[in-house]
Amino acid sequence: ALVPGRPRRHAAAPARAASPMTPDFPTSRSSKRPSPDGPAHTKVVATIGPGSEDKIGALIDAGMSVARINFSHGTPEDFVRRVRKIRGEAEARGTAVGILTDLQGPKMRMSRFAGGSLALALGDVLTLRTGKGIAGRGEVLFEFEGFLDAVRVGHRVLLADGQVELVAEHIDAQSIRGRVTRGGEAGDRKGVHFPDSAIRYELPTAEDKQNLELARKAGVDMIGISFVGSAEEIRAVRALAPQSLMVAKIERNAALENLDALLQEADGIMVARGDLGVEAELEQLPLIQKTLIQAAGRSGKFTITATEMLESMIESSRPTRAEVADVANAVLDGTDAIMLSAETAVGKYPIEAVSTMRRIARAVEHSQRYHDLPHPSFRTQERNFANAVAMSAVQAAEALNVSKIVCFTETGNTVRLISRYRPSADVFALSPHQQTVNHMTVLAHVRPILFRRERNLEDMLSIASEMLVVRGMAEYGDPIIFVAGVPAGKARTTNVMKIHRIGEEVKMH
Ligand code: PEP
Repeated sequence: ALVPGRPRRHAAAPARAASPMTPDFPTSRSSKRPSPDGPAHTKVVATIGPGSEDKIGALIDAGMSVARINFSHGTPEDFVRRVRKIRGEAEARGTAVGILTDLQGPKMRMSRFAGGSLALALGDVLTLRTGKGIAGRGEVLFEFEGFLDAVRVGHRVLLADGQVELVAEHIDAQSIRGRVTRGGEAGDRKGVHFPDSAIRYELPTAEDKQNLELARKAGVDMIGISFVGSAEEIRAVRALAPQSLMVAKIERNAALENLDALLQEADGIMVARGDLGVEAELEQLPLIQKTLIQAAGRSGKFTITATEMLESMIESSRPTRAEVADVANAVLDGTDAIMLSAETAVGKYPIEAVSTMRRIARAVEHSQRYHDLPHPSFRTQERNFANAVAMSAVQAAEALNVSKIVCFTETGNTVRLISRYRPSADVFALSPHQQTVNHMTVLAHVRPILFRRERNLEDMLSIASEMLVVRGMAEYGDPIIFVAGVPAGKARTTNVMKIHRIGEEVKMH
């Protein structure tokens, strides 16, 4: 179980020789300032909506690596059209852009109120029951069932996405009577949460299943599973979209409690701070974020940190200083990707939001502080060839100060293992499969490239080296670290690490 923020006893600080602090940011006198241009290691995920669907090319140019389409908004026609546009713009640029689509999941909503909302004050008593239409005086209607069995006296019920808190005082076969312990405004059709109750619901829902069929036909790369609480739910979604990566959205207390099982089953997680901030204590969110990112890294799974990262850019061309710090801190926490929601879906400055995120990530990645972050331990539980080769490649690159690791991959598995050590080198991930290439777009430090498979390793290495030179990414004479599996073309065979100088003849035997 997760215990964020458990207080630690501090040992006395070790005595240090007084020495001037080395700033890990460029000063006006230093020449270390990174150019704001160029890609960041941390990936930017941008949600596509009415504010951005005609600007997808510009979003890619600004630094979007993964485009997200949320089934909670938009019609099936919107979904199909947006997928087509993303694929078209990526292809036109000869680049890979992953597509992540979020299932809506069992969103629990209130019905409506006369006048559009209800103001609730501390001590008010309300009756909560299932129903549709306009709620009567003193009652709130829920558009779903199944809560009466799960809620006990003393459990909290959060209305309007957490704006109002009630505590259950009496429960019968039809309704719950609750008293308001935090007042506020409850608007029509807002979400309801039961942070203390084990509500049982079907996931994927019937609507999710229809959307999964659409997603499968469209060949989307990643599925975000909203409100997931168990590994069985991930397996049920995976069975309906077996080609896609499964992203467990951590947004319920149940998901925090089952984190180990979810991490085993999922390919990655999303720190979905919106709904998570309703169920968990708000002040615990930053600590939960750090714990989740660390736990995912240890399990070799990727993390997307999401929600309100540059919220003010929905209306403004510049973010707040606090938002800049939030993005930078997520990068320092070790997230693979940082996500924009309404900022790009409906905001006025979608392109600026993407480039702002990329620039913040890039500035952090050029700092000593980022470089000094602790890597996941090399002493890992995973005793297999792929992980041993991945570790060796990262260590060789560090030892020789080599700036490029080139990895041939069928499934992306070895690249994921390399990525989690956050090497200083760029990882060029070459695969003959478009879907594997798309899957790798979310991994930090990885530059996925579609690459035809050659007959043997010698040819693959020389052609890949030439390609790096032709694309202006390397020069003759540069050393590279090369990772692959023999025989070529078979998944799960990673067993070769070679140090190579570009331009030299490749002889493997
Ligand atoms: C969230 O709740 O933070 C989230 C990312 O999910 P959604 O955007 O679907 O609300």
